[in-house]
Amino acid sequence: MKEIQLCMSEMRDFFQTGTTLNVSWRKKQLKALRASISEHESAILKALQEDLGKSDFEGYATELGIVYSEIDHHLKHLDSWSRPKRVRSTILSFPSRSYIVTQPLGVVLIMSPWNYPFQLTMAPLVAAIAAGNCAVVKPSRYSAHTSRVLVEILSKVFPSEYVATFEGGSEMNTALLNYRFDHIFFTGSPTVGKIVMQKAARFLTPVTLELGGKSPALIDEGTNLKLAAKSIAWGKFLNAGQTCVAPDYILIKHDLQERFVEELIGAIQSMYGTDPLNNSEFPKIINEKHFTRLTDLLGTGTLAYGGQLDPKLMKIAPTILVGPNLDSTLMTEEIFGPILPIISFNQFEEAFSFIEGREHPLALYFFGSNSQHEKQVVDSLLFGGGCINDTVLHLSNPHLPFGGVGASGMGRYHAKDGFMTFSHKKSILKKYTFLDVPLRYAPFKGKYSLLRRMMR
Ligand code: NAD
Repeated sequence: MKEIQLCMSEMRDFFQTGTTLNVSWRKKQLKALRASISEHESAILKALQEDLGKSDFEGYATELGIVYSEIDHHLKHLDSWSRPKRVRSTILSFPSRSYIVTQPLGVVLIMSPWNYPFQLTMAPLVAAIAAGNCAVVKPSRYSAHTSRVLVEILSKVFPSEYVATFEGGSEMNTALLNYRFDHIFFTGSPTVGKIVMQKAARFLTPVTLELGGKSPALIDEGTNLKLAAKSIAWGKFLNAGQTCVAPDYILIKHDLQERFVEELIGAIQSMYGTDPLNNSEFPKIINEKHFTRLTDLLGTGTLAYGGQLDPKLMKIAPTILVGPNLDSTLMTEEIFGPILPIISFNQFEEAFSFIEGREHPLALYFFGSNSQHEKQVVDSLLFGGGCINDTVLHLSNPHLPFGGVGASGMGRYHAKDGFMTFSHKKSILKKYTFLDVPLRYAPFKGKYSLLRRMMR
């Protein structure tokens, strides 16, 4: 595509000018971005409402607020993160000084999904800008209203040789992936993540893959069921379950299940009332394709609550399914909607092995008071991150890096980890020339035992 070709070559030229190496200049860009977001706040919230039926509260809490906090955190720490870091030199290189220089990678590609269309585009972009890169941004076509506002904001604040946005569907992603980038930051499904990685391999381009998968919530003995139900109802039905770190399914001790379901129903009703389909604070499903995909899942297991649909409003009520077939699509693929299956276990070890035997989840939530079990979950299971006695909140702490492991992704971001993802750490050893120790040069006769002593 000619348009991409031209943009890429203009970006390369701009990057070569060295303008983005200046940290004060980068801070100016972040401040300009912040100001423009602030100017467009109501347009952003309206677009999120149109795309996903998000209330202003949810839009601010899970999208705008997170982006503001990322910008502010980067502005506060950028000077110190980007300063060269002195490290110790070894005796073998005496006399010398060693340090690490943090350098931008160049021209990066950011591809985002539709479920948190503003935040998942802007947060990586903030990190890319802070680290001194030029960026090509490709938001999702499904969240078209938010993508429009994103384009408006970015094209007003930045020249296209610095930050450029390309709209469109997967054909546009495919076209962009034919070009050589210096880093690709992709947020989306594991299936598309594999395609991205294959395309990136052609140029040996490093990738960050922020993917999804099935994130379990494990409810063990000694859980405060009322609090657990509130936390799970909140984390699961936020954005109508279209959240990468939403609890995908529950594993619960058999003797706790009945009471937990009662508490969960109570929590759902107190949050969304008894008619959630007509509650403006309960979001909708993004589009017909996903609506149909989700309604097809409803036949699995025993319906314990919910199940109502409104195809016109594109809404599915918070739904609880008990005892699903473990080989069904409901239990083999990420649900990504307001349907929560519950599976019971008798011994903690059963639940542990159930999780251990599947792909490493993006998130895991452990509820319970058995510290031995808690330690076993935290130390021995591999998952991106998670909470103990809560859900989703780990994502909101800028001091905690965010990313998956194995099938749920590779690489991480948020705050300093985002900055580092878009930077190269260059190691430099500066040798002083007033002395040249001859030990390392041949001939080695008589030097071996000294070398061994020095390298111990
Ligand atoms: P998706 O993988 O279908 O789409 C993501 C992006 O890839 C979109 O921009 C889309 O246009 C593009 N795309 C689709 N097919 C493509 C192809 N064949 N080639 C190239 N590009 C293609 O994901 P989605 O439906 O937008 O989002 C849902 C998924 O994203 C879930 O799995 C969810 O868990 C995951 N997710 C992860 C995070 C995270 O931070 N880890 C956050 C949100 C969503």
